[in-house]
Amino acid sequence: MSTTAYIGIGANLGDARANVADAIERLRRLDGCALQAVSRLYRTAPIDSSGDDYINAVARVATALDAEALLQALHGIEQAHGRERPYRNAPRTLDLDLLLYGDARIASATLTVPHPRLHQRAFVLVPLLELAPAIALPGLGPARQFAAAVADQDISVLN
Ligand code: ADP
Ligand code: MG
Repeated sequence: MSTTAYIGIGANLGDARANVADAIERLRRLDGCALQAVSRLYRTAPIDSSGDDYINAVARVATALDAEALLQALHGIEQAHGRERPYRNAPRTLDLDLLLYGDARIASATLTVPHPRLHQRAFVLVPLLELAPAIALPGLGPARQFAAAVADQDISVLN
């Protein structure tokens, strides 16, 4: 039994581009997951955060892990990058968010899926739509209908 999940990747501390590249390699090697696709890398200005620009991407995996186990695995990769959480929305070496888990809607103490701010953030929505232009957000409808609302947010493809 395999579920398609989308993972948001972001970094803006240290060598952010290298951190994102390494996260992608770790996702490729993750037990119980098969990495299927990765968007291009994007550069975005911080939103509700501080510091340097972010490097962002979205990955698609097919996974045998349940959603909580997948989130734990993502936290493990963040830890490997020495991520600390000194305060909310602090600059981060690596942030991995579970954006979508099949067509599941989850609201537990530790996990909200679809990720609650996914449709408001160009840095997630734009790479997600690159991978899956026709994707629907459970409970919200087609992801592409939110693109216009984030069009004022700074985002560019990294060469
Ligand atoms: P954010 O990504 O919102 O800037 P964090 O990465 O510090 O902030 O995440 C804070 C907490 O959010 C995590 O400890 C995690 O349990 C919780 N969380 C809830 N839903 C999700 C999700 N879909 N993906 C990742 N983390 C989530
Ligand atoms: Mg996070």
